[in-house]
Amino acid sequence: MNPVWVRTLSFIGLVALGTLVVRGLSDWTTAFGFAAAALVLRYLRDAIHLRNLSRWSRQELGATLPRSSGAWEELYAQLYHRGRARQREHAELTEALTSFRGAAQALPDGVVTINALNQIVWCNPQAEQHLNLRLAEDIGQNLANLVRAPDFLAYLSRGEWDKPVQLRVRHPDQRTERVLSLQLVAYGDAQKLLLSRDITRFEKLETTRRDFVANVSHELKTPLTVLAGFLETISESAVTVEQRTQYMALMREQAARMQRLVDDLLTLSALEATSAPRSDTIDTTALFERIAGTARQLSNGTHAIVFDIEPGLALLGSEVELTSAFTNLVTNAIRYTPEHGRIEVRWHRLADGSATLAVADDGIGIPSQHLPRLTERFYRVDRGRSRQSGGTGLGLAIVKHVLTRHQGTLTIDSEVGKGSVFTATLPARRIVGDVDTTDPGRALSGETLTAL
Ligand code: ADP
Repeated sequence: MNPVWVRTLSFIGLVALGTLVVRGLSDWTTAFGFAAAALVLRYLRDAIHLRNLSRWSRQELGATLPRSSGAWEELYAQLYHRGRARQREHAELTEALTSFRGAAQALPDGVVTINALNQIVWCNPQAEQHLNLRLAEDIGQNLANLVRAPDFLAYLSRGEWDKPVQLRVRHPDQRTERVLSLQLVAYGDAQKLLLSRDITRFEKLETTRRDFVANVSHELKTPLTVLAGFLETISESAVTVEQRTQYMALMREQAARMQRLVDDLLTLSALEATSAPRSDTIDTTALFERIAGTARQLSNGTHAIVFDIEPGLALLGSEVELTSAFTNLVTNAIRYTPEHGRIEVRWHRLADGSATLAVADDGIGIPSQHLPRLTERFYRVDRGRSRQSGGTGLGLAIVKHVLTRHQGTLTIDSEVGKGSVFTATLPARRIVGDVDTTDPGRALSGETLTAL
Protein backbone atom coordinates (compact mmCIF):
# COMPACT_ATOMS: atom_id res chain seq x y z
CA MET A 1 0.00 0.00 0.00
CA ASN A 2 1.05 3.60 -0.60
CA PRO A 3 3.22 4.79 2.40
CA VAL A 4 1.09 7.95 2.67
CA TRP A 5 -2.01 5.83 3.24
CA VAL A 6 -0.12 3.61 5.69
CA ARG A 7 1.00 6.67 7.65
CA THR A 8 -2.49 8.25 7.63
CA LEU A 9 -4.29 5.09 8.70
CA SER A 10 -1.66 4.37 11.38
CA PHE A 11 -2.06 7.98 12.63
CA ILE A 12 -5.87 7.62 12.92
CA GLY A 13 -5.47 4.20 14.55
CA LEU A 14 -2.95 5.54 17.07
CA VAL A 15 -5.10 8.58 18.03
CA ALA A 16 -8.19 6.35 18.49
CA LEU A 17 -6.19 3.78 20.45
CA GLY A 18 -4.64 6.49 22.67
CA THR A 19 -8.09 7.91 23.39
CA LEU A 20 -9.49 4.47 24.23
CA VAL A 21 -6.59 3.84 26.64
CA VAL A 22 -7.06 7.24 28.34
CA ARG A 23 -10.89 7.29 28.39
CA GLY A 24 -11.60 3.61 28.95
CA LEU A 25 -11.86 0.89 26.36
CA SER A 26 -15.63 1.30 25.88
CA ASP A 27 -15.63 5.02 24.87
CA TRP A 28 -15.46 4.48 21.11
CA THR A 29 -17.38 7.65 20.22
CA THR A 30 -14.85 9.98 21.93
CA ALA A 31 -11.99 8.00 20.45
CA PHE A 32 -13.31 8.47 16.93
CA GLY A 33 -14.10 12.14 17.69
CA PHE A 34 -10.44 12.72 18.62
CA ALA A 35 -9.30 10.81 15.60
CA ALA A 36 -11.54 12.94 13.34
CA ALA A 37 -10.28 16.18 14.97
CA ALA A 38 -6.66 15.04 14.54
CA LEU A 39 -7.43 14.24 10.92
CA VAL A 40 -8.83 17.74 10.32
CA LEU A 41 -5.71 19.31 11.92
CA ARG A 42 -3.55 17.16 9.77
CA TYR A 43 -5.57 18.14 6.72
CA LEU A 44 -5.04 21.83 7.57
CA ARG A 45 -1.32 21.31 7.99
CA ASP A 46 -1.19 19.52 4.63
CA ALA A 47 -3.16 22.34 3.01
CA ILE A 48 -0.53 24.83 4.25
CA HIS A 49 2.25 22.59 2.91
CA LEU A 50 0.43 22.24 -0.39
CA ARG A 51 0.18 26.03 -0.69
CA ASN A 52 3.91 26.30 0.11
CA LEU A 53 4.68 23.59 -2.42
CA SER A 54 2.62 25.34 -5.05
CA ARG A 55 4.45 28.67 -4.41
CA TRP A 56 7.82 26.93 -4.39
CA SER A 57 7.14 25.12 -7.64
CA ARG A 58 6.50 28.45 -9.35
CA GLN A 59 9.90 29.75 -8.28
CA GLU A 60 13.13 29.16 -10.24
CA LEU A 61 14.84 25.79 -10.03
CA GLY A 62 17.12 25.75 -6.99
CA ALA A 63 15.00 28.18 -4.85
CA THR A 64 15.20 27.61 -1.06
CA LEU A 65 12.85 24.85 0.12
CA PRO A 66 9.92 25.72 2.48
CA ARG A 67 10.38 24.58 6.08
CA SER A 68 8.82 21.17 6.70
CA SER A 69 8.96 18.05 8.79
CA GLY A 70 7.94 14.39 8.63
CA ALA A 71 6.54 13.06 5.36
CA TRP A 72 6.60 16.55 3.86
CA GLU A 73 10.31 16.92 4.60
CA GLU A 74 10.94 13.66 2.78
CA LEU A 75 8.81 14.79 -0.13
CA TYR A 76 10.64 18.10 -0.36
CA ALA A 77 14.01 16.32 -0.16
CA GLN A 78 13.01 14.12 -3.10
CA LEU A 79 11.75 17.09 -5.08
CA TYR A 80 14.91 19.01 -4.24
CA HIS A 81 17.17 16.21 -5.50
CA ARG A 82 15.13 15.81 -8.65
CA GLY A 83 15.25 19.54 -9.21
CA ARG A 84 19.03 19.56 -8.78
CA ALA A 85 19.41 16.65 -11.23
CA ARG A 86 17.14 18.44 -13.74
CA GLN A 87 19.16 21.62 -13.25
CA ARG A 88 22.41 19.78 -13.99
CA GLU A 89 20.89 18.13 -17.08
CA HIS A 90 19.58 21.49 -18.22
CA ALA A 91 23.01 23.10 -17.76
CA GLU A 92 24.69 20.26 -19.66
CA LEU A 93 22.16 20.47 -22.49
CA THR A 94 22.51 24.26 -22.67
CA GLU A 95 26.29 23.91 -22.82
CA ALA A 96 26.07 21.23 -25.51
CA LEU A 97 23.64 23.36 -27.53
CA THR A 98 25.80 26.48 -27.14
CA SER A 99 28.91 24.64 -28.23
CA PHE A 100 27.04 22.99 -31.14
CA ARG A 101 25.72 26.36 -32.30
CA GLY A 102 29.16 27.92 -31.83
CA ALA A 103 30.66 25.17 -34.01
CA ALA A 104 27.89 25.52 -36.60
CA GLN A 105 28.41 29.30 -36.68
CA ALA A 106 32.15 28.85 -37.18
CA LEU A 107 31.58 26.51 -40.15
CA PRO A 108 32.68 27.99 -43.47
CA ASP A 109 29.58 26.34 -44.98
CA GLY A 110 25.98 27.36 -44.49
CA VAL A 111 23.64 25.11 -42.46
CA VAL A 112 19.83 25.37 -42.37
CA THR A 113 17.68 22.94 -40.38
CA ILE A 114 14.16 22.50 -41.71
CA ASN A 115 11.24 20.44 -40.44
CA ALA A 116 9.00 17.99 -42.29
CA LEU A 117 6.98 20.92 -43.72
CA ASN A 118 10.17 22.57 -45.04
CA GLN A 119 9.86 25.35 -42.45
CA ILE A 120 13.08 26.91 -41.23
CA VAL A 121 13.97 25.87 -37.69
CA TRP A 122 17.45 27.37 -37.50
CA CYS A 123 20.32 28.53 -39.71
CA ASN A 124 23.85 29.82 -39.25
CA PRO A 125 25.16 33.23 -40.45
CA GLN A 126 26.85 31.69 -43.53
CA ALA A 127 23.50 30.29 -44.68
CA GLU A 128 21.91 33.71 -44.06
CA GLN A 129 24.58 35.22 -46.30
CA HIS A 130 24.46 32.53 -49.00
CA LEU A 131 20.66 32.35 -49.29
CA ASN A 132 19.83 35.90 -48.27
CA LEU A 133 17.92 34.74 -45.18
CA ARG A 134 17.32 36.54 -41.85
CA LEU A 135 16.88 33.97 -39.11
CA ALA A 136 15.04 36.34 -36.76
CA GLU A 137 12.38 37.07 -39.40
CA ASP A 138 12.40 33.87 -41.43
CA ILE A 139 12.20 31.31 -38.64
CA GLY A 140 9.09 29.15 -39.27
CA GLN A 141 8.86 30.31 -42.91
CA ASN A 142 8.72 27.75 -45.70
CA LEU A 143 12.16 27.56 -47.32
CA ALA A 144 10.55 27.09 -50.73
CA ASN A 145 9.06 30.60 -50.42
CA LEU A 146 12.46 32.14 -49.71
CA VAL A 147 14.76 30.25 -52.10
CA ARG A 148 12.68 30.28 -55.24
CA ALA A 149 15.17 29.15 -57.89
CA PRO A 150 13.33 26.50 -60.00
CA ASP A 151 16.29 24.10 -59.87
CA PHE A 152 16.30 24.21 -56.09
CA LEU A 153 12.51 23.80 -55.81
CA ALA A 154 12.69 20.74 -58.06
CA TYR A 155 15.55 19.38 -55.94
CA LEU A 156 13.67 20.04 -52.69
CA SER A 157 10.58 18.19 -53.86
CA ARG A 158 12.56 15.31 -55.35
CA GLY A 159 12.93 13.49 -52.03
CA GLU A 160 16.30 11.89 -52.78
CA TRP A 161 19.35 14.02 -52.30
CA ASP A 162 22.43 11.89 -52.85
CA LYS A 163 24.00 14.62 -55.01
CA PRO A 164 24.11 18.39 -54.48
CA VAL A 165 22.46 20.91 -56.79
CA GLN A 166 24.28 23.99 -58.12
CA LEU A 167 22.69 27.39 -57.98
CA ARG A 168 23.71 30.77 -59.38
CA VAL A 169 22.53 33.49 -57.05
CA ARG A 170 22.79 37.23 -57.43
CA HIS A 171 24.15 39.14 -54.49
CA PRO A 172 21.58 41.66 -53.15
CA ASP A 173 23.78 44.45 -54.58
CA GLN A 174 22.86 42.91 -58.01
CA ARG A 175 26.42 43.33 -59.25
CA THR A 176 28.09 40.11 -58.20
CA GLU A 177 26.93 36.60 -58.78
CA ARG A 178 27.98 33.56 -56.82
CA VAL A 179 27.75 29.86 -57.44
CA LEU A 180 26.43 27.75 -54.57
CA SER A 181 26.40 24.02 -54.07
CA LEU A 182 23.32 22.98 -52.06
CA GLN A 183 22.97 19.55 -50.50
CA LEU A 184 20.00 18.27 -48.50
CA VAL A 185 20.50 15.59 -45.86
CA ALA A 186 17.52 13.87 -44.20
CA TYR A 187 17.69 13.15 -40.49
CA GLY A 188 15.48 12.44 -37.48
CA ASP A 189 11.73 12.46 -38.01
CA ALA A 190 11.46 13.77 -41.60
CA GLN A 191 13.70 16.72 -40.71
CA LYS A 192 16.29 17.99 -43.18
CA LEU A 193 19.62 19.69 -43.08
CA LEU A 194 20.47 22.00 -45.97
CA LEU A 195 24.21 22.51 -46.46
CA SER A 196 25.31 25.40 -48.67
CA ARG A 197 28.85 25.95 -49.97
CA ASP A 198 30.17 28.88 -51.98
CA ILE A 199 31.97 27.31 -54.97
CA THR A 200 32.36 30.49 -57.02
CA ARG A 201 36.17 30.28 -56.87
CA PHE A 202 36.27 26.58 -57.85
CA GLU A 203 33.86 27.25 -60.69
CA LYS A 204 36.02 30.09 -61.92
CA LEU A 205 39.15 27.93 -61.68
CA GLU A 206 37.40 25.16 -63.54
CA THR A 207 36.32 27.59 -66.28
CA THR A 208 39.87 29.01 -66.47
CA ARG A 209 41.27 25.48 -66.73
CA ARG A 210 38.80 24.55 -69.46
CA ASP A 211 39.51 27.77 -71.39
CA PHE A 212 43.24 27.20 -70.99
CA VAL A 213 43.11 23.68 -72.39
CA ALA A 214 40.89 24.88 -75.25
CA ASN A 215 43.29 27.76 -76.00
CA VAL A 216 46.40 25.58 -75.94
CA SER A 217 44.74 23.02 -78.23
CA HIS A 218 43.66 25.79 -80.57
CA GLU A 219 47.13 27.39 -80.61
CA LEU A 220 48.78 24.05 -81.40
CA LYS A 221 46.18 22.97 -83.90
CA THR A 222 46.91 25.70 -86.46
CA PRO A 223 50.68 25.09 -86.87
CA LEU A 224 50.10 21.33 -86.74
CA THR A 225 47.52 21.54 -89.54
CA VAL A 226 49.92 23.63 -91.63
CA LEU A 227 52.78 21.17 -91.01
CA ALA A 228 50.60 18.16 -91.82
CA GLY A 229 49.38 19.87 -95.01
CA PHE A 230 52.88 20.61 -96.29
CA LEU A 231 54.11 17.11 -95.41
CA GLU A 232 51.25 15.62 -97.39
CA THR A 233 51.89 17.91 -100.36
CA ILE A 234 55.60 17.10 -100.39
CA SER A 235 55.09 13.35 -100.09
CA GLU A 236 52.13 12.97 -102.44
CA SER A 237 52.76 15.35 -105.32
CA ALA A 238 55.74 16.24 -107.35
CA VAL A 239 57.16 19.55 -106.16
CA THR A 240 59.94 21.62 -107.59
CA VAL A 241 63.12 22.29 -105.65
CA GLU A 242 62.06 25.92 -105.11
CA GLN A 243 58.63 24.86 -103.87
CA ARG A 244 60.22 22.35 -101.55
CA THR A 245 62.60 24.98 -100.14
CA GLN A 246 59.68 27.36 -99.66
CA TYR A 247 57.55 24.70 -97.94
CA MET A 248 60.41 23.69 -95.70
CA ALA A 249 60.90 27.33 -94.60
CA LEU A 250 57.19 27.62 -93.80
CA MET A 251 57.26 24.32 -91.92
CA ARG A 252 60.30 25.45 -89.92
CA GLU A 253 58.40 28.63 -89.04
CA GLN A 254 55.40 26.64 -87.75
CA ALA A 255 57.64 24.28 -85.81
CA ALA A 256 59.37 27.28 -84.21
CA ARG A 257 55.96 28.67 -83.32
CA MET A 258 55.00 25.44 -81.56
CA GLN A 259 58.39 25.41 -79.85
CA ARG A 260 57.85 28.95 -78.50
CA LEU A 261 54.40 28.02 -77.25
CA VAL A 262 55.67 24.92 -75.48
CA ASP A 263 58.58 26.91 -73.98
CA ASP A 264 56.19 29.56 -72.63
CA LEU A 265 53.84 26.90 -71.27
CA LEU A 266 56.77 25.22 -69.51
CA THR A 267 57.84 28.59 -68.07
CA LEU A 268 54.32 29.19 -66.74
CA SER A 269 54.09 25.73 -65.27
CA ALA A 270 57.54 26.13 -63.63
CA LEU A 271 56.34 29.43 -62.11
CA GLU A 272 53.26 27.72 -60.73
CA ALA A 273 55.18 24.72 -59.43
CA THR A 274 57.24 26.67 -56.90
CA SER A 275 55.76 28.91 -54.22
CA ALA A 276 58.68 31.35 -53.87
CA PRO A 277 61.35 32.43 -56.36
CA ARG A 278 65.06 31.82 -55.83
CA SER A 279 66.98 34.61 -54.18
CA ASP A 280 69.98 35.20 -56.46
CA THR A 281 71.89 38.47 -56.23
CA ILE A 282 71.51 39.67 -59.79
CA ASP A 283 73.95 42.17 -61.28
CA THR A 284 71.43 44.20 -63.26
CA THR A 285 74.07 45.86 -65.46
CA ALA A 286 75.10 42.45 -66.78
CA LEU A 287 71.45 41.41 -67.04
CA PHE A 288 70.55 44.39 -69.24
CA GLU A 289 73.66 43.85 -71.36
CA ARG A 290 72.32 40.42 -72.26
CA ILE A 291 68.83 41.81 -72.91
CA ALA A 292 70.34 44.54 -75.11
CA GLY A 293 72.04 41.79 -77.14
CA THR A 294 68.74 39.97 -77.65
CA ALA A 295 66.99 43.24 -78.57
CA ARG A 296 69.68 44.08 -81.11
CA GLN A 297 69.33 40.67 -82.72
CA LEU A 298 65.53 40.92 -82.92
CA SER A 299 65.46 44.49 -84.23
CA ASN A 300 68.21 43.79 -86.73
CA GLY A 301 69.03 47.48 -86.91
CA THR A 302 65.50 48.62 -87.75
CA HIS A 303 64.88 50.54 -84.47
CA ALA A 304 66.68 53.08 -82.35
CA ILE A 305 67.01 51.41 -78.97
CA VAL A 306 68.22 53.38 -75.97
CA PHE A 307 69.23 51.74 -72.68
CA ASP A 308 69.55 54.03 -69.67
CA ILE A 309 70.68 51.79 -66.82
CA GLU A 310 71.57 53.06 -63.36
CA PRO A 311 74.86 51.40 -62.49
CA GLY A 312 75.58 49.54 -59.27
CA LEU A 313 72.10 48.16 -58.64
CA ALA A 314 71.70 44.52 -57.69
CA LEU A 315 68.37 42.77 -57.60
CA LEU A 316 67.45 39.95 -55.21
CA GLY A 317 65.34 37.31 -56.93
CA SER A 318 65.31 34.58 -59.53
CA GLU A 319 67.69 35.52 -62.34
CA VAL A 320 66.02 33.18 -64.83
CA GLU A 321 62.52 34.50 -64.08
CA LEU A 322 63.42 38.20 -64.06
CA THR A 323 65.50 37.85 -67.25
CA SER A 324 62.50 36.25 -68.93
CA ALA A 325 60.08 38.97 -67.71
CA PHE A 326 62.31 41.94 -68.63
CA THR A 327 63.22 40.40 -72.01
CA ASN A 328 59.52 39.94 -72.76
CA LEU A 329 58.81 43.64 -72.18
CA VAL A 330 61.72 44.74 -74.38
CA THR A 331 61.01 42.29 -77.21
CA ASN A 332 57.30 43.23 -77.15
CA ALA A 333 58.26 46.88 -77.59
CA ILE A 334 60.30 45.92 -80.67
CA ARG A 335 57.64 43.58 -82.08
CA TYR A 336 54.84 46.14 -81.75
CA THR A 337 56.86 49.13 -83.04
CA PRO A 338 57.22 49.62 -86.79
CA GLU A 339 60.60 50.07 -88.42
CA HIS A 340 62.52 53.25 -87.51
CA GLY A 341 60.63 53.49 -84.25
CA ARG A 342 62.35 54.35 -80.96
CA ILE A 343 62.49 52.18 -77.84
CA GLU A 344 63.77 53.47 -74.51
CA VAL A 345 64.63 51.12 -71.65
CA ARG A 346 65.20 52.85 -68.32
CA TRP A 347 66.18 51.08 -65.09
CA HIS A 348 66.69 53.24 -62.05
CA ARG A 349 66.15 53.50 -58.33
CA LEU A 350 63.41 55.68 -56.82
CA ALA A 351 63.65 57.85 -53.69
CA ASP A 352 61.83 55.23 -51.58
CA GLY A 353 64.45 52.58 -52.42
CA SER A 354 62.33 50.65 -54.92
CA ALA A 355 63.44 50.39 -58.56
CA THR A 356 61.58 50.59 -61.84
CA LEU A 357 62.12 49.29 -65.31
CA ALA A 358 60.26 51.46 -67.83
CA VAL A 359 60.10 50.20 -71.41
CA ALA A 360 58.73 52.93 -73.67
CA ASP A 361 58.07 52.67 -77.39
CA ASP A 362 56.50 54.89 -80.01
CA GLY A 363 54.80 51.95 -81.71
CA ILE A 364 51.21 51.02 -82.52
CA GLY A 365 49.83 51.52 -78.98
CA ILE A 366 46.90 49.71 -77.37
CA PRO A 367 43.22 50.81 -77.18
CA SER A 368 42.38 51.54 -73.52
CA GLN A 369 39.60 48.91 -73.28
CA HIS A 370 42.19 46.15 -73.74
CA LEU A 371 44.60 47.34 -71.05
CA PRO A 372 42.99 45.59 -68.02
CA ARG A 373 43.03 42.21 -69.80
CA LEU A 374 46.47 42.25 -71.41
CA THR A 375 48.08 40.04 -68.75
CA GLU A 376 45.48 37.29 -69.19
CA ARG A 377 46.78 34.14 -70.83
CA PHE A 378 46.31 34.15 -74.61
CA TYR A 379 44.76 37.62 -74.59
CA ARG A 380 45.82 39.59 -77.65
CA VAL A 381 44.65 42.89 -79.09
CA ASP A 382 45.29 41.76 -82.64
CA ARG A 383 45.62 38.00 -83.01
CA GLY A 384 47.01 38.20 -86.55
CA ARG A 385 49.68 40.75 -85.67
CA SER A 386 50.72 38.80 -82.59
CA ARG A 387 51.14 35.56 -84.57
CA GLN A 388 52.86 37.32 -87.43
CA SER A 389 55.45 38.71 -85.03
CA GLY A 390 55.98 35.31 -83.36
CA GLY A 391 53.78 35.92 -80.32
CA THR A 392 52.28 33.20 -78.15
CA GLY A 393 49.90 35.41 -76.16
CA LEU A 394 51.58 34.26 -72.96
CA GLY A 395 54.37 36.85 -72.63
CA LEU A 396 52.63 39.41 -70.42
CA ALA A 397 51.01 36.65 -68.33
CA ILE A 398 54.53 35.44 -67.56
CA VAL A 399 55.71 39.00 -66.81
CA LYS A 400 52.82 39.58 -64.40
CA HIS A 401 53.35 36.22 -62.71
CA VAL A 402 57.09 36.79 -62.24
CA LEU A 403 56.60 40.31 -60.87
CA THR A 404 53.89 39.17 -58.45
CA ARG A 405 56.21 36.44 -57.16
CA HIS A 406 58.81 39.15 -56.51
CA GLN A 407 56.22 41.42 -54.84
CA GLY A 408 56.47 43.75 -57.83
CA THR A 409 53.84 45.43 -59.99
CA LEU A 410 53.25 46.09 -63.67
CA THR A 411 51.58 49.23 -64.98
CA ILE A 412 50.73 49.90 -68.61
CA ASP A 413 50.17 53.29 -70.23
CA SER A 414 49.36 53.40 -73.87
CA GLU A 415 47.83 55.48 -76.60
CA VAL A 416 46.85 54.18 -80.00
CA GLY A 417 49.26 55.39 -82.67
CA LYS A 418 51.56 57.05 -80.14
CA GLY A 419 53.10 54.15 -78.26
CA SER A 420 53.19 52.40 -74.91
CA VAL A 421 55.08 52.44 -71.63
CA PHE A 422 55.30 49.22 -69.60
CA THR A 423 56.62 49.88 -66.09
CA ALA A 424 57.75 47.09 -63.79
CA THR A 425 58.39 48.16 -60.18
CA LEU A 426 60.29 46.05 -57.66
CA PRO A 427 60.17 46.75 -53.93
CA ALA A 428 63.06 48.33 -51.97
CA ARG A 429 63.82 45.13 -50.08
CA ARG A 430 64.77 43.45 -53.37
CA ILE A 431 67.17 46.18 -54.41
CA VAL A 432 70.78 46.34 -53.24
CA GLY A 433 72.95 49.27 -54.31
CA ASP A 434 76.40 47.81 -53.78
CA VAL A 435 77.44 46.20 -57.06
CA ASP A 436 81.03 47.14 -57.99
CA THR A 437 80.93 49.22 -61.16
CA THR A 438 84.52 50.47 -61.14
CA ASP A 439 84.79 49.15 -64.69
CA PRO A 440 83.08 52.00 -66.59
CA GLY A 441 82.57 49.74 -69.60
CA ARG A 442 80.08 47.65 -67.59
CA ALA A 443 77.59 50.47 -67.11
CA LEU A 444 75.01 50.81 -69.86
CA SER A 445 73.99 54.35 -70.58
CA GLY A 446 71.96 56.19 -73.13
CA GLU A 447 75.05 57.30 -75.06
CA THR A 448 76.84 53.97 -75.16
CA LEU A 449 73.94 51.97 -76.52
CA THR A 450 71.89 54.36 -78.59
CA ALA A 451 73.06 52.83 -81.82
CA LEU A 452 72.09 49.23 -81.20
P1 ADP B 1 52.05 38.20 -77.56
O1 ADP B 1 52.84 36.97 -77.62
O2 ADP B 1 50.82 38.14 -78.39
O3 ADP B 1 52.85 39.42 -77.81
P2 ADP B 1 51.87 39.15 -74.86
O4 ADP B 1 51.24 38.52 -73.68
O5 ADP B 1 53.30 39.45 -74.80
O6 ADP B 1 51.49 38.23 -76.06
O7 ADP B 1 51.08 40.49 -75.16
C1 ADP B 1 49.69 40.48 -75.19
C2 ADP B 1 49.16 41.49 -76.19
O8 ADP B 1 49.49 42.80 -75.70
C3 ADP B 1 49.82 41.41 -77.52
O9 ADP B 1 49.17 40.49 -78.36
C4 ADP B 1 49.69 42.82 -78.05
O10 ADP B 1 48.41 42.97 -78.63
C5 ADP B 1 49.74 43.68 -76.79
N1 ADP B 1 51.07 44.28 -76.55
C6 ADP B 1 52.03 43.85 -75.74
N2 ADP B 1 53.09 44.70 -75.74
C7 ADP B 1 52.76 45.70 -76.59
C8 ADP B 1 53.42 46.92 -77.00
N3 ADP B 1 54.64 47.27 -76.58
N4 ADP B 1 52.77 47.71 -77.88
C9 ADP B 1 51.55 47.38 -78.34
N5 ADP B 1 50.87 46.26 -77.97
C10 ADP B 1 51.46 45.44 -77.11
